[in-house]
Amino acid sequence: MRVIGLAAAVAISLSACGGGTSSIAAPSPSAPAPLPEVSSTPIEQEAVSPPAAPVVIPPPVPAPSAPSTAPVTTTPPSVAPAPLAGRVVVIDPGHDGGNAAHARDIATQVDIGTGTKECDTVGAQTADGYPEHALNFDVAQRLRDRLTSAGVRVALTHTDDTGWGPCITRRAAIGNEAHAAAAISVHADGGPSNGRGFHVILPAPVAGLN
Ligand SMILES: [Zn+2]
Repeated sequence: MRVIGLAAAVAISLSACGGGTSSIAAPSPSAPAPLPEVSSTPIEQEAVSPPAAPVVIPPPVPAPSAPSTAPVTTTPPSVAPAPLAGRVVVIDPGHDGGNAAHARDIATQVDIGTGTKECDTVGAQTADGYPEHALNFDVAQRLRDRLTSAGVRVALTHTDDTGWGPCITRRAAIGNEAHAAAAISVHADGGPSNGRGFHVILPAPVAGLN
């Protein structure tokens, strides 16, 4: 088996490799970026005739006041702030190095909102034994470093690769509690030996959980 890719999701999507994907409550979405201000052109209103009055000589119709012509504004060429600075991102290195030694614990069923699922799994591994959890953790650290350099406040769902879990529900909760703008769950699923590439899973909203 060959490691073919990493699953990354912008909301908590915790995939037990080979076991499908379950979506947990997504983190609170970040506040939408403010839309650029659009200068509104005043709408010229139709001149309204004065109400009919029992007078012989109608008063002169005042000339409609000319709409104020606001100058057309363009987006000032200001220096754009770093788009990621200050954002909170949670990175979830899939699985954990100690899961295999806690088979019973990680097999515990947890409530994922749409059903139940194992707390976690051991993950995949390459044909020569390189485990997925090690690759996930390595990638997660590299990603953390790059995001941190861009000003992102990064939290990991687990900070070493020697323990077990946490359960997928706890991983999702970490993202929610951090009010993360994005949560990225890193996995490296198995595939055919000639397989290459990666895929990205974006969880759909789950009624009642989002
Ligand atoms: Zn995995």
